[in-house]
Amino acid sequence: MLKAELIERAGFDRSAGDDPSRSLGVRSIENCPALVLNADYTPLSYYPLSLWPWQTAIKAVFLERVDIIAHYDREVHSQNWAMQLPSVIALRQYVKPSEFPAFTRFNVFLRDKFSCQYCGSPHHLTFDHVVPRRLGGRTSWENIVAACSPCNLKKGGRTPREAGMPLLGPPLRPTNWQLHERGRAFPPNHLHETWRDWLYWDVELEA
Ligand SMILES: [Zn+2]
Repeated sequence: MLKAELIERAGFDRSAGDDPSRSLGVRSIENCPALVLNADYTPLSYYPLSLWPWQTAIKAVFLERVDIIAHYDREVHSQNWAMQLPSVIALRQYVKPSEFPAFTRFNVFLRDKFSCQYCGSPHHLTFDHVVPRRLGGRTSWENIVAACSPCNLKKGGRTPREAGMPLLGPPLRPTNWQLHERGRAFPPNHLHETWRDWLYWDVELEA
């Protein structure tokens, strides 16, 4: 079985602009990660998306730990061999995925649909401790929400009740499945075309 530390992952960055190498029709080799699927052909993780750098992917191919499902147009070669860079690979051995996504800034925003949990605004988003830290409020799924900076300022170091600012909904720890459902509405901007089939089951319906 692959060791967890082998699994290098890259996160989404919605604010990232278009990749300049892409607009030229050429991908830099460093920008050719492989989407890693589990043995059941579902992504190993969604948030962050399970991506391996091309070197790790090729190493896993040679170690016969993965099958190549799709590849980039780009080739790498040495004197003795040439190989198209894999864009989608699948583990040969099933790894039990975790039920819950990582607690990250991106994932909190995604759970809260990139909107303030007090007024619904999508602008100037920050994070708010629902129960303030000075009252023992923790930095956790259940106590952190997306909040616009005006609401954050207005609420200050008070609880929603003290501030008269009820939450639009209770902050809960989402399952991977719930977060994935949210993610469909906010797709990242750097999906390679060969990844889409494995991320969205109804991609053809949306096209
Ligand atoms: Zn607000």
